[in-house]
Amino acid sequence: MKLAMIGFGQAGGKIVEKFLEYDDRTGSGIVRSAVAVNTAKADLLGLERVPEENRVLIGQTRVKGHGVGADNELGAEIAEEDIDEVQSVIDNIPVHEIDAFLIIAGLGGGTGSGGSPVLAKHLKRIYTEPVYGLGILPSSDEGGIYTLNAARSFQTFVREVDNLLVFDNDAWRKTGESMESGYEEINDEIVKRFGILFGAGEVGAQGEVAESVVDSSEIVNTLDTGGVSTVGYAAEEVTDDSGGGLLSRFKSDGTSDNMDAANTTNRITSLVRKAALGRLTLPCEINGAERALLVLSGPPAELNRKGIERGRKWLEEQTGSMEVRGGDYPVSDSSYVASVILLSGVHNVPRIKELQQVAIEAQENIDEIRAESEENLEQLVEDDEDELDPLF
Ligand code: GDP
Repeated sequence: MKLAMIGFGQAGGKIVEKFLEYDDRTGSGIVRSAVAVNTAKADLLGLERVPEENRVLIGQTRVKGHGVGADNELGAEIAEEDIDEVQSVIDNIPVHEIDAFLIIAGLGGGTGSGGSPVLAKHLKRIYTEPVYGLGILPSSDEGGIYTLNAARSFQTFVREVDNLLVFDNDAWRKTGESMESGYEEINDEIVKRFGILFGAGEVGAQGEVAESVVDSSEIVNTLDTGGVSTVGYAAEEVTDDSGGGLLSRFKSDGTSDNMDAANTTNRITSLVRKAALGRLTLPCEINGAERALLVLSGPPAELNRKGIERGRKWLEEQTGSMEVRGGDYPVSDSSYVASVILLSGVHNVPRIKELQQVAIEAQENIDEIRAESEENLEQLVEDDEDELDPLF
């Protein structure tokens, strides 16, 4: 499916760049337009692929291009004040050519955390195309203020978008890694998953014929539940001696063909299980997901309808949903078979409840510390007997 991607804040901008790089590498053509919005000039200058005319610096009169720190209330205010500047860039997007908007942001910071829900609300008022969010949750070691920002932004963002796809940095954190190299890897993981998912609706770009194509309308339908979504992924390298491999296709004997088909089917069903039961972008209970979409990508010879159908049935049982869609995304020159599962309308997400609890505690601490500092400052400034008078 074709998207207008808007990266809000630093993380958002970096991830949009990764999607552009992915498009270049794979020819998947999912990014119809790329926009980056920020209050920090340096972050916008650091981008390489987003066209310069699509980089919008907002809040210049308020923060002079220096960013909002981690103040997401200021981020939201600035986005509201300068929404026309963002709109004037969006005016250049050929909206009739896109299937949806995707606003990407780290929810723990200031600019993206505060600005994304404002932009989502604005776009929904103007356009009929769906507006999706890709919200990144901070890792738990980032500290209270990031968690508080994320919890508040999450609540608002979910309400304003047609669906919020969530990626949890905490579930992907590795110890002993620098933040930057850690983010590089994490961003690759994000783009791999969402690239296959959204790329599936663009079949034909490479000329392959899918057995049962995933159309962009099926992605839209799956996301139509609203609320929160998560994505699972599993992949296996295709080797010649594995079932359905390149060599075995040349065998003329029918039994081995049958065995190949059985192996291909088995591999697909096992990849579907691994994707659903392994690490999701937002860890949660898959039981109770309202809708699901299964995408199998890989060389056409390694994909078959039977495997996808079995995987789909299994997902129906696991989620309890009656609306599980499935299809393939053939990529001839790939040496991997990958299964991507979109679970839409998930409700049982302990991580969100935890995040909210930590956020409430952080809020209470912040209020306490603020009250205490006011008191301490008063004690410092005022003389004990109140004998001095201030000037005015
Ligand atoms: P903003 O510029 O004020 O919107 O804030 P940032 O985007 O710099 O950071 C917000 C949050 O996003 C951080 O607290 C991190 O959790 C996360 N983050 C920052 N950079 C990256 C990145 O490159 N990748 C990922 N996955 N998360 C990031």
